[in-house]
Amino acid sequence: MRLSKNFTKTSKTAPADEVAKNAQLLIRAGFVYKVMAGVYAYTPLGLRVLENIKQIVREEMNLVGGQELIMTNLQAPGPWQQTTRWSSDVVDVWFKTKLQDDTELGLAWSHEEAIMDMMRQYVKSYKDLPVMVYQFQTKLRNELRAKSGIMRGREFVMKDMYSLHATAEDLDAFYNQTIDAYKKVYERLGIGSDTYVTFASGGAFTKFSHEFQTICDAGEDIIYLHRGKNIAVNEEVLDDAVKELGVEKSELEAVKSAEVGNIFNFGTEKSEQMGIHYTDASGVQQPIYLGSYGIGITRVMGVIVEKFADDKGIIWPEAIAPAKVYLVRIGSDAAVSDADSLYKAFLDYGIEVIYDDRDERPGTKFADSELMGIPYRVTVSDRLIETGTYEMTSRATGETVLLTRDELLARLGRL
Ligand code: ATP
Ligand code: MG
Repeated sequence: MRLSKNFTKTSKTAPADEVAKNAQLLIRAGFVYKVMAGVYAYTPLGLRVLENIKQIVREEMNLVGGQELIMTNLQAPGPWQQTTRWSSDVVDVWFKTKLQDDTELGLAWSHEEAIMDMMRQYVKSYKDLPVMVYQFQTKLRNELRAKSGIMRGREFVMKDMYSLHATAEDLDAFYNQTIDAYKKVYERLGIGSDTYVTFASGGAFTKFSHEFQTICDAGEDIIYLHRGKNIAVNEEVLDDAVKELGVEKSELEAVKSAEVGNIFNFGTEKSEQMGIHYTDASGVQQPIYLGSYGIGITRVMGVIVEKFADDKGIIWPEAIAPAKVYLVRIGSDAAVSDADSLYKAFLDYGIEVIYDDRDERPGTKFADSELMGIPYRVTVSDRLIETGTYEMTSRATGETVLLTRDELLARLGRL
């Protein structure tokens, strides 16, 4: 991408009403555009990051057998009425709307009921189970507060997977497999070592659900941690969980955290409430077991900004950065042709690059490369051309090396 063609501009300031560091930096760097509180658009740069996060999640969901689909944002009330979750006393984040003939509709905040209602048509026999489906979708929630930037949106992207099973054992096995898949996801996103499988409040069928909580000062949750035993408990279930886990409250350390995922075992609750059954091998009608597995895609992006940023700006982990290289061009004729040809070489090597081909001062270009958080900055300048080298600087460590073109391409191609 040539920066001269990019329509977003970096800025030294964020909107005055934006209090969250993640949104301030993402807006200033041109990754996100704020429409109103809790509602953000993703620009081409921001979208690249989102797509990289989604791709990691997609690969891991596919590996456990998930099949990708996409459900609808407009939802019929019927299925939700069958489980009581249409009521705003039960679910306080509904956005609801009406057709011109006054028929009520819901705007999707989640999809358990919608998925079950669809599967009513497809799952008839034990031979049709298990089924695992997932989607990336924009969820709409009428959140009371939206002061955490993209970490709490009224419109946000979630990955939600749903699994339907014939037996409790089959659901349990898949549930545990998904815990492992989630661990891999957070590992690949660069936050694995600070993300804990956390006991949280459950539903009608299980005492606990499992949250994935990442240690983060900007998070809205408090978890109680035992780092040695790798135990984490959400404060909402602290008393119950310590009893169950055989630890003392005094051994646990309270830390601020952000919920980046949540998985739920619904047992046969939805199936029974909605009257959806399958026929077992002996011809008897049986209820269906349901598991539900969410990851906050946009929230994760915000958490990563919060955790890794420094006083100069964002620092993206390589796995999700919008480009691997930020190419800075300093100087005129010779520098232009050398930088143009290096840019082409990067593209030929499949190395994603943002080329700062603008007529800006070097200081501005360096500052923007830092604000945008691109992992490697490569500088082409008249002075360097004389020595036959390029300067490569790591955004995360600040380490700078001088390399020939062959060395540079070899290093970045492999990294
Ligand atoms: P929270 O307790 O933070 O309100 P939740 O428990 O209501 O979240 P879930 O229904 O479990 O959220 O949704 C699955 C995941 O989606 C969450 O673990 C979180 O990462 C993400 N998420 C939930 N609400 C939001 C939001 N308003 N903005 C961004 N991400 C969200
Ligand atoms: Mg949750």
